Amino acid sequence: MKYAFVIRNDENSFKVAEKIKSQLKLEYDEENPDYVISLGGDGTFLRAVHKYINSIDHVVFFGLNSGNLGFYTDYTMDNVDGLIDALENNNFNVNSHSLIEYNYNNKIGYALNEITLLNQMMVQTVDVYVDDVLFETVRGTGLCVCTTSGSTAYNKSLGGPVVDPSLEAFILTEIAPINSNAYRALSSPLVLSSKHTLRLKCHTDSMFTADQFVMDMKSEEWLNINFSCKKIRFGKMDNTSFVKRVQKAFL
Ligand code: NAP
Repeated sequence: MKYAFVIRNDENSFKVAEKIKSQLKLEYDEENPDYVISLGGDGTFLRAVHKYINSIDHVVFFGLNSGNLGFYTDYTMDNVDGLIDALENNNFNVNSHSLIEYNYNNKIGYALNEITLLNQMMVQTVDVYVDDVLFETVRGTGLCVCTTSGSTAYNKSLGGPVVDPSLEAFILTEIAPINSNAYRALSSPLVLSSKHTLRLKCHTDSMFTADQFVMDMKSEEWLNINFSCKKIRFGKMDNTSFVKRVQKAFL
């Protein structure tokens, strides 16, 4: 078995990487790892997933947080030895996390947290189709479509619901929608089951994001979003429930 690191740019994370490298009796291989260890926070974990997105069918991801327990990071500085043991002895449980997928002009990409359609500079008008039927036309800053595991990230800041990641669903949340006599938007997050598809068309040039990546989007072009059959697998040690994590992180 071979492993690789994705490391947040801070002293603690580099120190842990050195410690693991000096003790772990597995080969380090950045090109073709079986295990990817993210050292940092949830943002670093996202980077790790995107770096190895083409290998997610066989890679198992491990998140070691150099701060507090995160939503994707299951190991902390206190159990570095536990992580080494888990990797050497194949002694871990594997959880799956669903991804959402976009198709823009036949370019396909994935998000673990969310896809947003955003224009911070000017109000944009976006047609939202659910399963090819026009659902609403939103005028505002944009839209956020998140996975259940991404529900605690940007979606939560937008007032979207926090959703148990074991549910197969995705959530559409409007970003600062205008509601007036002229424009009407749902103005509540919409939770859809995994079988639905979304098609978004913007009437001005815009931008969309997939987790940390930003792409240009041209006026009148389609951004199609659906639940992906791809999942990431991540190695778990900690038995902290999702509700407990939410409580620790936010309350
Ligand atoms: P960043 O701006 O450096 O940090 C974003 C924050 O979101 C970090 O504190 C990160 O945790 C946290 N985070 C990431 N995924 C999470 C999850 N699933 N649940 C709870 N918290 C989570 O950006 P980044 O590190 O590159 O991460 C990109 C993410 O930032 C996007 O996917 C989006 O969700 C989020 N974002 C949030 C807002 C907002 O809330 N207003 C705006 C833009 C983007 P760590 O500190 O553990 O890394």
